[in-house]
Amino acid sequence: MKIGVLSIQGAVSEHLSHIARCDVEAVPVKTKETLCEVSGLVIPGGESTTIGKLIEISGLAAPIRERAHSGTLALFGTCAGLVLLAQEVLDGTKNQPKLELMNTRVKRNAFGRQRESFETKLEVKGFTSPLVGVFIRAPIIVEAGEDVEELARLPEGIVAARQGNLLAVSFHPELTDDRRMHQLFVEMCKVI
Ligand code: GLN
Repeated sequence: MKIGVLSIQGAVSEHLSHIARCDVEAVPVKTKETLCEVSGLVIPGGESTTIGKLIEISGLAAPIRERAHSGTLALFGTCAGLVLLAQEVLDGTKNQPKLELMNTRVKRNAFGRQRESFETKLEVKGFTSPLVGVFIRAPIIVEAGEDVEELARLPEGIVAARQGNLLAVSFHPELTDDRRMHQLFVEMCKVI
């Protein structure tokens, strides 16, 4: 099994090394050909508008949508990746590009100027001890459908959630040594 990291923008190498340390082959994904080889794809943080436009232009968006719908690809969206997975983006840019896969309504840059970047401990469903989340101009899920399982929340809203083969977090799990979020994604990819 191989897991890909969308290699357009963001902390690609950190995601690749976290996955490799979960004993799974990790590959950067830039083309449709490489996408075909992977069971799961991480969509890293960055700028959701830029990443969204580039995946449309490169022809990756359509196969990502198709395979996610047919259940043959697991997706892990972190920060900007969580925005791209959402059905609805509040205050997005005009023509905000989206994959529209997760039954979520998302607010971008949800923590305001004072808390643009911060770290905090999170209680994550299924984890036996708290996880440190690194939030960088992070989005939140303000509303989620019944089919979405909430995994962690802050007072502002949901910051980690799962819906079938889709996993999304507001923070940057690749920027700490804690690999539990990536391990959870690896387990999801194994049953794809
Ligand atoms: N604010 C960015 C966006 O909405 C996300 C920031 C990040 O990925 N660190 O695209």
